[in-house]
Order: sequence, then C-alpha cells, then structure tokens
Amino acid sequence: MTILKDYFFTKKEELKEDLLTLTRAESPTPDKQMVDECGQVLAGLFKQHLGVEPEVFKQDVQGDHLKFKIGKGKKKVLILVHFDTVWDAGRLPIVEKEGKLYGPGVFDMKSGIIQALWAVKGLVEVEGGLEGLEITFLCTSDEEIGSVSSRDLIEETAKMCDVVLVTEAPVHGSGALKTSRNGVGIYELTVKGHSSHAGSHHADGISAVKELAHQIIKLEGMTDYSIGTTVNIGVIEGGTRLNVVPDSARCTIDFRVKTKEEGERMVKAVESLEPLTEGAKIEVEGGLNRPPMERTEATAHLFGLARDAAREIGFELEEAHIGGGSDGNFTAGLGIPTIDGFGCYGDGAHAEHEHIVLDELPKRAALIAYLLKRLAAE
Ligand SMILES: [Zn+2]
Repeated sequence: MTILKDYFFTKKEELKEDLLTLTRAESPTPDKQMVDECGQVLAGLFKQHLGVEPEVFKQDVQGDHLKFKIGKGKKKVLILVHFDTVWDAGRLPIVEKEGKLYGPGVFDMKSGIIQALWAVKGLVEVEGGLEGLEITFLCTSDEEIGSVSSRDLIEETAKMCDVVLVTEAPVHGSGALKTSRNGVGIYELTVKGHSSHAGSHHADGISAVKELAHQIIKLEGMTDYSIGTTVNIGVIEGGTRLNVVPDSARCTIDFRVKTKEEGERMVKAVESLEPLTEGAKIEVEGGLNRPPMERTEATAHLFGLARDAAREIGFELEEAHIGGGSDGNFTAGLGIPTIDGFGCYGDGAHAEHEHIVLDELPKRAALIAYLLKRLAAE
C-alpha cells in the first residue's frame, strides 16, 4: 500500500512535467488571448487528473476566471490561485539548472496551482476519495494588476467556504506560511496653486510644489513602525519652468497597515488632508486597495493544523507576517480564516531570477494534502 506522502515523491517528475506544461502556456495579465489559452491548458490538467470541467466566468477585458469543484463533503475549502503572470511573452526563458526550475510564473504562482491539484489527486488515488471535503478551486486571471475583475467573484465564492488556502509562494528563507498580511492603501494627491513670474510677481503666485512639500512631510510623518503603519511617497511631480511659480504638483501615496481599524483611521487621515498654503487646493483619489489579512484565532487554529500536517511529513513549518497583499486579503477581510504561502519554495517573484526548488514540489503538495485530511477529520 502506498503511503500518501511517498506518493508525491514518486510522482515528482510528473508534477514537474505539469508545471512545465502550465509555464509554457505563458499568461501575461494584459493579454486576454494568451491568458485564456493558459486557462484552457489548466482546464486540461484538471480534466486529466481529477476528471472535472470548469465553470467559466467570461470576461471582456481580462482572461476568463475558472472554478472547479471536487467532492461533496461538509467541510468547504477554497483553494485560491491566479494563473496570470507579470511577464511579457518570451521575456523569460524556461531553464532547469542545479535542482531549480526558472521561468515566467513558476514561483508566482504556477507551482502552487500544480501542487494543490496534485494534493487533491493524491487524496483521491491513495486514500480513495475526498471524504468530508468539498473543495473549490478558484483560478483567477488578473491578480497581478489588482484583481479588478475577480474581486467580487473571489468574495462571493469565499463566503460559501469555511477556510481559504492561498497557494502563493511561501516566505523566502524559511518557507513559512503567511498568516497575516498588511492592508494596502493607494492614493494620488494632486495640488492646484496659481502660477506667476518667479521674479517680478512672486507674491502673486501660489506654489503647488511648496504645498505638496508640506503634505509630503505630513504624510510621511504618519509612519509608525511600532504599530506597523508605513507611508511611502513613491513618485512626485510638479512645476513647469525654473522661473515660474508652479500651479500644479502631484504625488503618489502608498500606505500599509496591520489592522482593519488602523486601515480605516488612515483612510480618514489621508482623505481629510487640508491645504496649509492659503489659496492652494488639494485633492486625493484612491482607497484601501486590499484590506489587511489579520491573524485571528481561527487563523491560528488553521495554522496549527498545517504545522501538525508538516510534522507528519517530517518538517517544521513556521508562520510569518508579510508586508505585501494578495487575494487572501479579500477573503480574510470577510472574516474567513485564510492562510497564504502554500506554494513552492523558491525565490524571485517578479524578478529575472524567478525560480522554484524542484525537490520542494512534492513536499509542499504533501503539505496541502495532509492539511486537507486534517480539515476533513475536524
Ligand atoms: Zn502571485
């Protein structure tokens, strides 16, 4: 009789082949046709391994989103993945070297998709089914540009589930799962002043650049490391000529928060900014792009199950808080226990050295399978 964890290690080459198949179907977010073709390849893998067809959520601009359902058990698990990548077609070669696989999206996050697919296949083949589980795979096409067309679908689907597992990459170095993530606020601040000759009519002007400078100091001053709130003014722009008092200026605002309350407080602080220069006008546009993914008691419990699952396989699993956001922020924002980072160990998301460590593929697939078993047994 095959032991479940051995199953994945004996299937390592097949997992790699599937990952290669999915990676070769390049899927840059803005290219609907390519993303849809990748979706078809993905649907082919689900059909081949699990015998299921997708429910297709047609999109006009982005690639279509796909949902697969397996099992009829009581415990409803959402496995949340995206199959778009940040890479233009042909930009990154696919190379295997020294136990690592390099290529567009191998780490973010096509390996995570393959692992989850095989985790379920392993349960079906070795354990004879998915007793106690109803698993929904939601595969979206636009995570890399902020999930504009998929957010509602993600939230609707998550509301019908008990837990959400996101198979994005784990933390580099430790391989830790991500049990909390910052919320992200994104704004643009525009200042309008009044232009005049910097020599002869200086007093008649209202400098938008000076006003912007005041606002930047104020905004940057909202950073408070002790509670994990940061503000970054990443881009500034303003003025036209050396000798003209500038009538317009703008900057971008990127803030990160750890809790929902702090997110609300920061939204209010940014949206209620007032000009300090007489006659200047300011306008802010934007909002909380992703709510924070908070580590609740239910999240801690879910992590406990994952840690025990890892011990059963033979390794220690850690958890971590992460600055960046993912689609897990949306589901956690609804209060549904969500953990991210079940993907493959590797490095270089959105970077030229994007890769995964091939030996980790079967190990992390086993982790998902053993966690699913524990969830079913609860
Ligand atoms: Zn990703």
